[in-house]
Amino acid sequence: MDNKELAIGVLGAGGNIGQTHSHNIATYVDGARLAAVYDLNTDRANEVAQRYGAQVMDSAEALIGSPDVDAVVIASWDGTHAALATACIEAGKPVFCEKPLATTQADAKAVVEAEQAAGKRLVQLGFMRRFDPDYIKMKQILDSGELGAPLMAHCISRTRSHPKDHTTAQHITNIAIHEIDICRWLLGEELTEVAVRFPRSTCFAEGTCKDPQLVLMQSESGVLIDVEVSGNSYYGYEILCELVCEKGTIRLPVAAEPIVRSYLRCGQAIPADWTARFVTAYQQELQHWVDYLRGKTAAPGPGTADGYAACVVSDALIRAQGSGAWEKVGG
Ligand code: NAP
Repeated sequence: MDNKELAIGVLGAGGNIGQTHSHNIATYVDGARLAAVYDLNTDRANEVAQRYGAQVMDSAEALIGSPDVDAVVIASWDGTHAALATACIEAGKPVFCEKPLATTQADAKAVVEAEQAAGKRLVQLGFMRRFDPDYIKMKQILDSGELGAPLMAHCISRTRSHPKDHTTAQHITNIAIHEIDICRWLLGEELTEVAVRFPRSTCFAEGTCKDPQLVLMQSESGVLIDVEVSGNSYYGYEILCELVCEKGTIRLPVAAEPIVRSYLRCGQAIPADWTARFVTAYQQELQHWVDYLRGKTAAPGPGTADGYAACVVSDALIRAQGSGAWEKVGG
């Protein structure tokens, strides 16, 4: 693709992340503009289109096939990603697809095969933590070797509350998928065995969803990773990660909020959700995607291979939720 400004179409533009991506394309990303939007919820699509001066399309197919759209962002719900990404690939349109690539290994494989058949790299995946300045610093310190080999990783993913229909499996495919990817990326190796443990569930868990869950993963070289996945922390949104190495540890900083002293109290605000915590990462991942498409960087962002690898691990974790045993990844 040449150096011209890219006209971007956003699918699911009216949702939480769809609005964030639409806003970033319209106001932040250099070399791109928000050309078109589509959302099942027409009112929300109209609002976004009006706010940024974009066209509203009648369907996902119309947006993907439009000559007015050079590249597509998929920001609709998890279960729609594989089919929409495949439709973009078959139309020859580059696509930025939110995580996960698919909700099963089999569906992810179909996207990988469609991209292989197209004969070129067309997909960047929304594993935005790879663009977060704090995770980048962690990786730089780890890769410098100054702390020796990594031994363990302690991760925490706490969301204030999850949707009513959220399932036990979605703790993996929707939430822990981020830790699966970021641990593969930080460690530079694959995860080979996984298990899940369930403590008693919180009184805030909805329906049959088991919440919280403790996800355990072991890497090829033997690094043991534990992830607390809480869908109903109640108090706020928090992402923590600490790598324990032979000669020291590396820990994500707590969100940089002012420390406030008031009457007999001292404390920091906690973000309500991901929008406040990962502002820079959401901007940088889209800028990187556009720069790659315009030939300004040769390094592609996370792609279908990463999306597929994460789905292979998530399939194993869902088996482990059912069996209670350690499960081999890809087994
Ligand atoms: P959301 O608020 O429910 O938004 C999804 C939007 O997409 C809704 O307006 C929905 O309409 C619409 N939609 C559903 N199917 C569609 C289709 N086939 N074509 C067009 N629009 C469609 O969900 P969200 O929280 O923004 O999450 C959306 C996706 O982004 C999920 O896959 C999630 O995992 C991912 N996400 C990633 C991050 C991250 O940190 N990388 C953060 C948040 C979300 P209806 O409401 O009418 O169904």
